Amino acid sequence: MKKYREILFILFYTLLLLANDASAQDMQRAKQTVADLCSPQMYGRGYLANGDKIAAKYIANRLEKAGAKKFNDSYFQNFSLNINTFPDKVQLEIDGKKLDLGAEFIVSPISTSGSGSGQAYFLDSLIFTENVEARQAFLKEDLTNRIIIFNGKDYPKIADLPTSLVRKFYEAKAFISIENKLTMSLANTQLSKPTFSVLESKLPSNAKKIKFALEAKLVENYITQNVIGYWEGTAKADSFIVFTAHYDHLGGIGKKIYFAGANDNASGIALLLELLEYYKQNRPTYSVAFLFFGAEEAGLLGSKFYTENPLFPLSQIKFLINLDLVGTGIEGITIVNATVFSQEFSILEQINQEKNLFSQVRKRGKAANSDHYFFTEKGVKSFFIYTLGGIQAYHDIYDKAEALPLSHYENLFQLLTVFVERFAFK
Ligand SMILES: [Zn+2]
Repeated sequence: MKKYREILFILFYTLLLLANDASAQDMQRAKQTVADLCSPQMYGRGYLANGDKIAAKYIANRLEKAGAKKFNDSYFQNFSLNINTFPDKVQLEIDGKKLDLGAEFIVSPISTSGSGSGQAYFLDSLIFTENVEARQAFLKEDLTNRIIIFNGKDYPKIADLPTSLVRKFYEAKAFISIENKLTMSLANTQLSKPTFSVLESKLPSNAKKIKFALEAKLVENYITQNVIGYWEGTAKADSFIVFTAHYDHLGGIGKKIYFAGANDNASGIALLLELLEYYKQNRPTYSVAFLFFGAEEAGLLGSKFYTENPLFPLSQIKFLINLDLVGTGIEGITIVNATVFSQEFSILEQINQEKNLFSQVRKRGKAANSDHYFFTEKGVKSFFIYTLGGIQAYHDIYDKAEALPLSHYENLFQLLTVFVERFAFK
């Protein structure tokens, strides 16, 4: 009797699990995916501690577990890049006070290595106007033992200064740009002296002595990868609906901090993996491909490489949807390329109205701001969708799994699946 009960019990739970598996999407699983991708093991899915490779392997394992098909017998597509990294020491001290890496200062991605100390030199921003006196005064300074401090918004203007001024600039030991928000990025080269970005509130206007140490390493021909899987269509397998999202992020600085990248773009990866499960159960007539790109943060490199080396002809893509920064949505969504593909956009708008999913669906034109871009340039119809409102964290240490609301995740999932249904089953 006991045995019989046990069997019934197991049967009941198996059925329950199966029912769950076939449901639209599994919010718990999506949250877990975001948490996994943001874990310390992934180290910000960048180029230190093999973060990119561990993340790519994680995604490939999920594809394998779902049973997704491979192109050319592999889920991976390798490519290489040059990338500036900060593998070890990073320190900044102002008048004896050590600043907190990540929260109070970060490094400029184009920095070289260096260490030392020197007097603060507050740059007169008049040199960026054509003010002759300010420029002459600057040229007369002895900067060899100084650290130049300038306003972050003047940073891009330095390279455009007359050569004599640029040369003078580079006499200094190091640079500090003052910022009202710290926003990290990546570079493929080293151009500057040791350069730090410091929060305005952490840099006293009477600062005198600066001490710094920075180890930078330009890694050349680093092998990274895209991860790709697909489901074959039931009738028109040569035509593809393509979902894309980048899995890489900014990695870490030193051994101290890493950028988890929850919204950017663990959110997109989790959604792609949910769509993968959904289309396993609900096969459209078209094939559905899932492209997980590497090196987006390093300059859209993974998607660029893919469009130059596609695994099936780009002309077979009926529509492509790129998801990047999709973990919020309280203020709606933005559709890049909406004005380019207005017919498809009106379908999206209509679905949103019928189902009351988002408070607004904002239109935007073409933009080179994520992985859809090189596809659009090659004539592939595509949208890039990102969510609005909620958290403000972006390219900083606060973009963490715990902080991600995922408030409209199911709404976006519904918008996408209904869109594909209306668009691709006909
Ligand atoms: Zn990003």
